[in-house]
Amino acid sequence: MTLKSCSTTGCNILARCGATIRFRFSYCQRLKVAAKAPLALLTGMMLAAGVLVGPVPGSAFAAELRVTADFEGGSAKVETLDQENRLVRISPAPHADRGWRCWWYFKLTGIDPGQTITLDVGEAPWATPDRAAYSLDGRMWQQTAPGKRDGRRIVYQQRIDAAEAWFAWGPPFVPSDAAALCKLAAQQCRFAQQFELCRSREGRSTPAVRICQTTDAQPPPYGVVVIARQHAWESGSSWVARGLLEWLISDQPEAIALRKRAEFVVVPLMDVDNTAIGAGGKEQKPHDHNRDWTDEPYFPAVAAVQKIIRQMDSEGRFDLFIDLHNPAANDPTFFFASPKELLNQIGQRNLDRFVAAAKAEITGPLPLSTKTRESGAGYDKRWQAISKNWVTQNTRKHVVAVTLETAWNTPHSTTEGYLTVGRQLAKAIYRYLQGDPRQD
Ligand SMILES: [Zn+2]
Repeated sequence: MTLKSCSTTGCNILARCGATIRFRFSYCQRLKVAAKAPLALLTGMMLAAGVLVGPVPGSAFAAELRVTADFEGGSAKVETLDQENRLVRISPAPHADRGWRCWWYFKLTGIDPGQTITLDVGEAPWATPDRAAYSLDGRMWQQTAPGKRDGRRIVYQQRIDAAEAWFAWGPPFVPSDAAALCKLAAQQCRFAQQFELCRSREGRSTPAVRICQTTDAQPPPYGVVVIARQHAWESGSSWVARGLLEWLISDQPEAIALRKRAEFVVVPLMDVDNTAIGAGGKEQKPHDHNRDWTDEPYFPAVAAVQKIIRQMDSEGRFDLFIDLHNPAANDPTFFFASPKELLNQIGQRNLDRFVAAAKAEITGPLPLSTKTRESGAGYDKRWQAISKNWVTQNTRKHVVAVTLETAWNTPHSTTEGYLTVGRQLAKAIYRYLQGDPRQD
């Protein structure tokens, strides 16, 4: 993966390259093994590995279609591979107890450049966006034409001008992308520090960034924590976090002013374990990642973010918490807020001010809905263990805590659409902190 900077000095905006790291089972590894093997064995191995692909016997096509998903974030259970009709029928790979089967992401090889691939995916609604994401290089993602629905399945048809392509539920963003983003933020901006939030339950690193631009050795007066991707399948939320982070470390005058005004902690990918294996994550066992915000969290990432928030709040420098998600299939972009009964007058005033600032900035192509929803007792029986509700109940009363749900099933739910929402959200924070949220 290459993340490029638009210029070489200071805090630059990262290039919008739509980059995604692919874990390559690798061609080089295969060749190393192959160099020691007898010729017949070598040929067999290479055919099995898809390195040598010959014409399909009795077929008009030059090569066999092959599906692989043995890379970071990959997920596909192949149900049918119809070589003659260039039809691939898949569903998300099953992962027991690891949440909804809704995320899919695979590589297709053996394509005759210029041919149309038919991709049939189930099941609706969660695994079947109107348009799938596809890429010719595994880095730049675009959308297919709208699919045709048939019951709980959807069929996409897409001409592919390459011998191989990647297809996914939405633009992927995997743990190595989060690590690369945090590392580059620290390289690009001298006020940004990458750090390891924690090791996950399965031992994976969870990267994060702290941005703190001190003036005369004084830390900025306000504190903001932004997290994304408690639900592994909601890849768009990590792209929103990336857009926000890229803007925050940029040389835009408003970004510089905001850095002087607020310290930020950004975690672009909370559930690294499920994202790494391509599981959906939502409603995983023993409970959902976003029903874990208690005094005894199960997930190390939740415990680590709670500790940061408690520390900032106890020092009187915490003001805003934003948890980034993607909603249900037909939902617009909108906020979930804590139930009104948890807010005092200042908390409600600040929530109204922040939502107004966000509405003024998140104007499209994925505009913020005018309707903010509440996630209280009527929403879920573990409502108190939802991130923002825990924050609201465990921090000072002026603190605003919200969930931003960014629409994923639209023609604008692309990498650029999500990055734009992230930049707009950052500008909304700038706008909100023009006032003093702690003033009575
Ligand atoms: Zn979610």
